[in-house]
Amino acid sequence: MPHQPIITGSGVEVTPLCDAVGPMGPSIRRPPAELFPGSGLPDEPWVLHFHCYLLRDAADRLTLVDTGIGAADSPAASWAPVPGTLAGELAAAGVTPAEIGTVILTHLHSDHASGTVAEGRPVFENARHVLQRAELDAAAGRMLDEVVTPLKDQLHVVEGDVEVAPGVHVHATPGHTPGHQIARAGELAMTGDLVLHPVQLADPAIRYLYDEDQETAARTRADVLAGLRAEQAILATAHFSEPFHRL
Ligand SMILES: [Zn+2]
Ligand SMILES: [Zn+2]
Repeated sequence: MPHQPIITGSGVEVTPLCDAVGPMGPSIRRPPAELFPGSGLPDEPWVLHFHCYLLRDAADRLTLVDTGIGAADSPAASWAPVPGTLAGELAAAGVTPAEIGTVILTHLHSDHASGTVAEGRPVFENARHVLQRAELDAAAGRMLDEVVTPLKDQLHVVEGDVEVAPGVHVHATPGHTPGHQIARAGELAMTGDLVLHPVQLADPAIRYLYDEDQETAARTRADVLAGLRAEQAILATAHFSEPFHRL
């Protein structure tokens, strides 16, 4: 399910990798008006895209933002349309996993980080994996055992706002999860689950049922979106149908 790449003003090519498209499975599916209280969304199935992003800078260094839903037996299998097609999307972009130098994990939800590991081994064998300290500290269950633990020698743990590759920054954006982060490259903002649905661009106060701390998430969303809007940034979203959204 290819989407078109764009090139930032700073010369970074950003390619959306469409890992999957589908509705949530019955275990967590709810009517949109329950997922986004106060949104007035109609009672139609919410079909999510699951996007990762490949960044290629002018020196050909490669950074991957998020790794998607993973294999058929991944921790996302209980609710997401596994298996993800990240490997095929990367191949279509002419990239092998071993060429990725940096992986940024926006957060440790199963649909954003499960593709990091396959059969107990890191998929991106030569990559540092950037994670916020608060996210690592909160890791638990299958994500800890099956994703974080196999990565232990490749983790690059950061706190707050950090340049993690030349021209690529992460910014702490807590609320959806304790250590949620977004990634920036030039005017692009890879927003992870800062915003889940376009309805939250019109009104960032609209909450999302699965934000872990809804109040903090709403405050972070409003603050960060206001800043991004002021600089006319381009959002690269995880779950919108169209990956890029110009503010
Ligand atoms: Zn897509
Ligand atoms: Zn999430």
